[in-house]
Amino acid sequence: MAITRDDCASLDDNDPLRSIRDRFVLPDGIVYLDGNSLGPMARNVPTRADTILSEWSSRLIRGWMEEGWWELPLRVGARIARLIGAAPEQVIVSDTTTTNLYKTLSAAVGLRSDRSVVVIEESAFPTDIYVAQSVARRIGGELRMLLRGKPVESVLDDTVAAVVMNHVDFRTAEIADMAAATSAIHDAGALAIWDLSHSAGVLPVALDVCEVDFAVGCTYKYLNGGPGAPAYLYVNARHLGEATQPIPGWMGHADPFLMENEYRPSEGIRRFLTGSQPIISMRILDAALDAYDGADIAAVRAKGIALTDLFIELVDDRLGLEVLSPRDSDRRGSQVSLRHPNAAAVYETLVDRGLQGDFRNPDILRFGFAPLYVSFTDAWDAVEILAAVLGER
Ligand SMILES: *Cc1c(COP(=O)(O)O)cnc(C)c1O
Repeated sequence: MAITRDDCASLDDNDPLRSIRDRFVLPDGIVYLDGNSLGPMARNVPTRADTILSEWSSRLIRGWMEEGWWELPLRVGARIARLIGAAPEQVIVSDTTTTNLYKTLSAAVGLRSDRSVVVIEESAFPTDIYVAQSVARRIGGELRMLLRGKPVESVLDDTVAAVVMNHVDFRTAEIADMAAATSAIHDAGALAIWDLSHSAGVLPVALDVCEVDFAVGCTYKYLNGGPGAPAYLYVNARHLGEATQPIPGWMGHADPFLMENEYRPSEGIRRFLTGSQPIISMRILDAALDAYDGADIAAVRAKGIALTDLFIELVDDRLGLEVLSPRDSDRRGSQVSLRHPNAAAVYETLVDRGLQGDFRNPDILRFGFAPLYVSFTDAWDAVEILAAVLGER
């Protein structure tokens, strides 16, 4: 029997995460399926923004120590660590994903200085490719592309220093096998750096269990940190003693207030800090992470699978569009990508009709299903709007 909107409403009634939706501000009249590009604002953000502004205005310089601004990159990092399967002292919030990839990839090639090849997937998010090109050039080495659909083994040999992997493909939502790929990379004597921008917060990630060397990710997508929110980086504890980063700065110095001319890296993850961090944005990110309080990542993942399965079923029944994302839910992140020859124009019309997904060149319509706030009726309403728009064309 065909699924009805009432069926979707009853799925919402039985959704154990349903009340979490109320932790977000979601404008009326929009089905928002673009949390994989920019998450919505959590309801507690304005109050927390007032708090940091009053800390600044009343405490001034003393805020750094007395309000905990100094420790904030580590403290918020520890909260993200819980979401990515990492012991807390290995994660720091700072800078952007791009900068953090530059730092961690440079650290990785520094630990493999007898090798000169950097590997990246041809399907990686472009910013990652630009960074990998730059690091390969800086060490006088070579960038090697891992072609779509090829196993990582196909590019590994004893010249490879480091491999950058995207955990979830931003175009298709395909999940890479972190355990298997990391193990193959290690077998070849290279180091593995994972970009978690499209997985953290919606999938279980097990960095420590997989023995990943370094990881990075952004916080303004599924973690709802806000536009331009600071990103994070992870360094496995076994590298924290030796790894050095390429942009040393006073915030990562062993004793910043000595103001000495010689750089000595701090112990631990703090050495990956460069300069002063955006404390106001970081406080807002910290507030946004409260949305995960009481939400078990396994339950979040289960809902993500149920939502994307439902959406694909409705697309198959009613639209017959090509589904670019894996149909096997174990291999699919919290996003469904559809193909349409006029995707750019269709996207614009969808937005006019109240469905906010996004468009990726050349023919991809992407729909993100962030389990903390997307409902089963949202999936239904999205397909209604798609059916109407496609029907008119
Ligand atoms: C969104 C995204 C980024 C973003 O990088 P920023 O420097 O934080 O803007 C990087 N990598 C991947 C895989 C992404 O999806």
